[in-house]
Amino acid sequence: DSMAADSKNLRVKLVLLGDSGVGKSCIVLRFVRGQFDPTSKVTVGASFLSQTLALQDSTTVKFEIWDTAGQERYASLAPLYYRGAAVAVVVYDITSLETFRKAQYWVKELQKHASPGIIMALVGNKADLQANRAVSSQDALEYAEKNGMFYMETSAKTADNINQLFEEIAKRLPRPSS
Ligand code: GDP
Ligand code: MG
Repeated sequence: DSMAADSKNLRVKLVLLGDSGVGKSCIVLRFVRGQFDPTSKVTVGASFLSQTLALQDSTTVKFEIWDTAGQERYASLAPLYYRGAAVAVVVYDITSLETFRKAQYWVKELQKHASPGIIMALVGNKADLQANRAVSSQDALEYAEKNGMFYMETSAKTADNINQLFEEIAKRLPRPSS
């Protein structure tokens, strides 16, 4: 089950998608462990981590996070992770137009094959590298709005907007009626 729990404790399956090197694993490590490791290893296949977030209304949300590998040779495995996911976070690197294009590929893929009610976030990571920006916030925001996603820029390196990203997701989760 992708979403389960009682009214105060939610459990959600979340999948991260996006090109290799955009910072998916670093986002997860920052959120789960509060760390940034610039020498982190390339993800092989996919990895799983979970983290519980306590919200102000005393609800808790346990995120079950599937961090996928972005390489082409694993693309055929992606449906295993996004099928049944309640949330998909599609990540690109704000310094690379190519990764923004790849993000759009993943959005189309999700629109075709994921659960109809899936919550989708578009995340422009490496926001600390403003001087090398290749994708404008305006373009990304427009694309996100057109596709029913919410949009955020993060930096796993500085921790900017990492917790906020998961808080925004939590706000959008359907609450079981009690
Ligand atoms: P993944 O393939 O999408 O999982 O990407 P990784 O998390 O392995 O990160 C790829 C590279 O980008 C690594 O060298 C990270 O140190 C670097 N990186 C990740 N996030 C950031 C960030 O927010 N800012 C900067 N400057 N570098 C980052
Ligand atoms: Mg990775």
